[in-house]
Amino acid sequence: MALTNWAGNVDFRHERLHRPSSVEELRAIVADSAQIRALGTGHSFNRIADTRHDLVRLDALPAAVEIDPDTRTVTVSGGARYGTVAEELHRQGWALHNLASLPHISVAGAVSTGTHGSGSPNLAAAVAGLDLVTADGELLALRRGDDDFPGAVVALGALGVVARVVLDIEPTYDVAQEVHLDLPWEAVATHLDTIIESADSVSLFTDWAGAAVNQVWRKTRLVPGTTYRRRDDLFGARPAPGPVHPLPGIDPVNCTEQLGVPGPWHERLPHFRLAFTPSNGDELQSEYLVPRRNAVAAIEAMRSLSHLVTPLLQVSELRTVSADDLWLSSAYGDDRIGVHLTWQPRQREVEAVLPAIEAALYPLGARPHWGKLFHAVDPAASWQRWTDFRQLVRRLDPSGKFGNDFLAGLSG
Ligand SMILES: Cc1cc2nc3c(=O)[nH]c(=O)nc-3n(C[C@H](O)[C@H](O)[C@H](O)COP(=O)(O)OP(=O)(O)OC[C@H]3O[C@@H](n4cnc5c(N)ncnc54)[C@H](O)[C@@H]3O)c2cc1C
Repeated sequence: MALTNWAGNVDFRHERLHRPSSVEELRAIVADSAQIRALGTGHSFNRIADTRHDLVRLDALPAAVEIDPDTRTVTVSGGARYGTVAEELHRQGWALHNLASLPHISVAGAVSTGTHGSGSPNLAAAVAGLDLVTADGELLALRRGDDDFPGAVVALGALGVVARVVLDIEPTYDVAQEVHLDLPWEAVATHLDTIIESADSVSLFTDWAGAAVNQVWRKTRLVPGTTYRRRDDLFGARPAPGPVHPLPGIDPVNCTEQLGVPGPWHERLPHFRLAFTPSNGDELQSEYLVPRRNAVAAIEAMRSLSHLVTPLLQVSELRTVSADDLWLSSAYGDDRIGVHLTWQPRQREVEAVLPAIEAALYPLGARPHWGKLFHAVDPAASWQRWTDFRQLVRRLDPSGKFGNDFLAGLSG
């Protein structure tokens, strides 16, 4: 049967699929291959993971979760899913700083594209080390502080296969999540920073039409021993009377618990529950990360494009991502606001409106999400360290073993 990505809009064109059961086997596969790409859980919406040659998945590697309380780190297989890692961390009294909207994705795959939640640096910022299988099949251990490290974490699969990832951890904590409905756009324009800072992780869901943001999801970390107080009002938005799903018409049973009920971090930080389909399941996605200082201008630009965007949209989400120093991160060098779009599965029509969105957001300094649909990007203009990244790729992979059409398209 044909192998496709989660959304079903990419059919992988590989000749062979490998599923090694040990790192030694993975090293031999990489050494013997002329061209190879790693595939995580396939949740990206473009051809970033695709290849016409060898594809390798790490889901058969032992899913070890090795916690080191002294260094406050955990070492996991690159193919481990965040949800599985999170459950084990919590069981042993530990936590990560944040999670994406879904726990289903692999750690190495998520980190490679700069995947993020809201209200903190992206997930890759918690990476303290990588064990990378390089083109010759050798295992290269890169640790935070090494010269090449900031170029190797968000690396689009271009430097090798990440066999193991070391992540920063902290003691486990509880989170309360509540949702408010109908936040007037005037309140967003006037009080955006206060709304975003009113909780640890905030998401605004909108379809860009109408006078108000449809839903505001707020996730608050609880100080042990305190109780969570729900807000009666959020700048004119009212508390949701019961659980909601961000997408109209979908059962909120798929979503993490709301109504301010406290619970473990990993059962509140994602919007969607591990055992259920995340989001709609029948959709496409795009996202542009705009410098936070241009957030209001980006929102105005998107509202002015509502006539093009809203008819193709399921929902749009605004989130914030704090700055980091990872060369290809969407938040390299400054804080960002993510303008995310969950599209109806109408790819041709969606691709036809992306140039208009990019014409509006790129002049504001936007960078596209590496794992979602975009029309075009000039990486050297968007990422200050792009040339350094290209040099790193040439040094670690001189024959282009980890190249593919997606990367070739970026390099022009
Ligand atoms: C329903 C849904 C919700 C989403 N929500 C969010 C969200 O909240 N925030 C966000 O930022 N993104 C979100 N995304 C996008 C998603 O997080 C990214 O596309 C992420 O990269 C997917 O991880 P994956 O394991 O599926 O990686 P894949 O899509 O399989 O691969 C992505 C890239 O990583 C590389 N890669 C994978 N494994 C390895 C490895 N072991 N070594 C080296 N390279 C590797 C691949 O070659 C490819 O270049 C969402 C996607 C979906 C479908």
